Amino acid sequence: MPRILKTAKIKITTKCNRSCDFCIFADGAQGENMSQELFTTVLDRLETIPFQQLHINGGEPTVHRDFPALSTLARTRLPGRVMVLGTNAITLARNQRIMEATLRSYDQILIGCDDEHQNYDEVHAVVPRLRETGKTVVVNSVLEGISSTRLDQLAGLCASTGAIHVTNHVHHVDVGQPANELRGLCDRYLDQHLMIEMDGSCYRCFNAMAKDDSEFSIWDEDFAAKVFAPRGHHFRFCLRCHEYTDSGSTVVPALAT
Ligand code: SF4
Repeated sequence: MPRILKTAKIKITTKCNRSCDFCIFADGAQGENMSQELFTTVLDRLETIPFQQLHINGGEPTVHRDFPALSTLARTRLPGRVMVLGTNAITLARNQRIMEATLRSYDQILIGCDDEHQNYDEVHAVVPRLRETGKTVVVNSVLEGISSTRLDQLAGLCASTGAIHVTNHVHHVDVGQPANELRGLCDRYLDQHLMIEMDGSCYRCFNAMAKDDSEFSIWDEDFAAKVFAPRGHHFRFCLRCHEYTDSGSTVVPALAT
């Protein structure tokens, strides 16, 4: 069977206009932006592999000073891919230029909304506008960080506008939980996600977050082959990952015999 990735995800910035306790992807105002040159190289590589969705994330991607230009470039260079923006919606509510860039380039908008994000007003302002223009909107609340009243209000907003409301638990975080017993390699995200970090390093998993633990980078000439090569080791973060699923195998997918 030909293999195809579900998601390629580019983190274009580690800057953010919020500082949520549970977030390990952003560095507030101290963060950095991916350069246009590196972003172009990432698109060059992504043109060589089959995948379905391009996620633009951060940090908060809309605070990247070149967000409109990068979004237009990705939409133009990768036609036919579903364009997905992960955002807290604060900039969309406050900046018309950023809203217009989003409406031009994205098909789906994924919005984190809870007490940590402190963005209830902005989300209530932005979701109807996005839905009016036919965008798919998913609002995601972390259950550890939201009251039942707020949850009900968001559920009402989504029901009345046709947005999707989902809830989740805190992921990606080492909160002192016991280490996983890593008996076999995790097969959870095989052929699902390729996450491209700010420095061009690549992880074939949405969750993998150990520093200096990437499998390969967008600079590798054999990038396309590496995306679909069998995986032979865990990431360091797998020890603490809430989503570890034991394949029972030392290589995934299992090598043909
Ligand atoms: S254990 Fe978690 S971080 Fe490791 S591959 Fe599975 S989903 Fe990814």
